[in-house]
Amino acid sequence: MTHAIHPQPGILDISLYQGGASHVDGVSDVVKLSSNENPFGPPESAKEAMRRTAHLMHRYPPTDHAALRHAIAEVHSLDAERVICGAGSDEIIHFLCQAYAGPGDEVIHTEHGFSMYRISTLAAGAHPVEVPERERTVDVDAILDACCFRTKLVFIANPANPTGTMIGANDIARLAADLPPHTLLVLDGAYAEFVDGFDGGAGLVDKRDNVFMTRTFSKLYGLGGLRIGWGYGPAHVIDVLNRIRGPFNLSETQLAAAEAAVRDRDWADRCRAENARMRTWLAKALAELGVPSDTSCANFVLARFTDADEAQACDRFLRGEGLIVRQVAGYKLPNCLRITVGDEASCRRVVHAVARFRDTYGEHRA
Ligand SMILES: *Cc1c(COP(=O)(O)O)cnc(C)c1O
Repeated sequence: MTHAIHPQPGILDISLYQGGASHVDGVSDVVKLSSNENPFGPPESAKEAMRRTAHLMHRYPPTDHAALRHAIAEVHSLDAERVICGAGSDEIIHFLCQAYAGPGDEVIHTEHGFSMYRISTLAAGAHPVEVPERERTVDVDAILDACCFRTKLVFIANPANPTGTMIGANDIARLAADLPPHTLLVLDGAYAEFVDGFDGGAGLVDKRDNVFMTRTFSKLYGLGGLRIGWGYGPAHVIDVLNRIRGPFNLSETQLAAAEAAVRDRDWADRCRAENARMRTWLAKALAELGVPSDTSCANFVLARFTDADEAQACDRFLRGEGLIVRQVAGYKLPNCLRITVGDEASCRRVVHAVARFRDTYGEHRA
């Protein structure tokens, strides 16, 4: 049907975000390993904070997020005045695009980069530019080559999703130093907590005025369902983002749960250690079955199969076993499956299922 009501240019170019599936028809005992969630759920401290705030639902929440910003600043040794909180880091990404990119502007993301960069760029009316990676790893020189007078933002996740790879501090610093003066570098640290001792790029943010970092409570902290993320940047950028941030973008419950979680250092340390232990085990066991992966720095493994057919067939087989992993053809990785590192029992189930799949699939072909 034709009509005269049209959205802004770019909006209809957005393909809907594909979330990880969470059920399989006819299978009851499913394990969801498709959205990089913490297999241990949220910390008790966050659940307790949620209960404490239940009676406040009729009250508008604070608009300045001061308590959460100060808790984040304390734990990560940052300047609380330059922290901004949002409904997931997705909302922070959205603010950045809305504030800095519009019609005629370009926003760079990389070949296998997270899909929200493109979605938020198009929503702002700007043009997404995809830059090649090298062996599933961000390529700083390719990004610099792609920059021009129109480039307003460059998005890099470090560690990256869905590849799990990381680039070093020297590469990031070189990129920040060599970008055009009108370009803001955004370091997406959704998986930074999984790297022991890594600051996500916060140190570089402090040193420069063209680098911004985003973080989330959705991954290590097990709070994806509650929607809390944050950003850290130069004062001039924080000032701009706060002007477009909705005054009540986070509820009292979100604020309290996040504050409790970020102060729960023991719990974070335990989850980080357990993730690293099972990730190593899973990657090695899959490799022994002939399914290699790049060394992952996050809470998932990108399993590489011979070709797209085998990856799809394995996905179907795993589903039949009640194991839901993520197809990543949409990320230009059709021969891969992204498998979240679950608890030990889930990892063992995945490996046993892949072993059986490899036996039968091999026979089929022979
Ligand atoms: C999961 C993820 C996010 C965070 O999403 P939230 O909106 O904070 O839940 C951001 N970037 C990447 C690369 C991710 O994988």
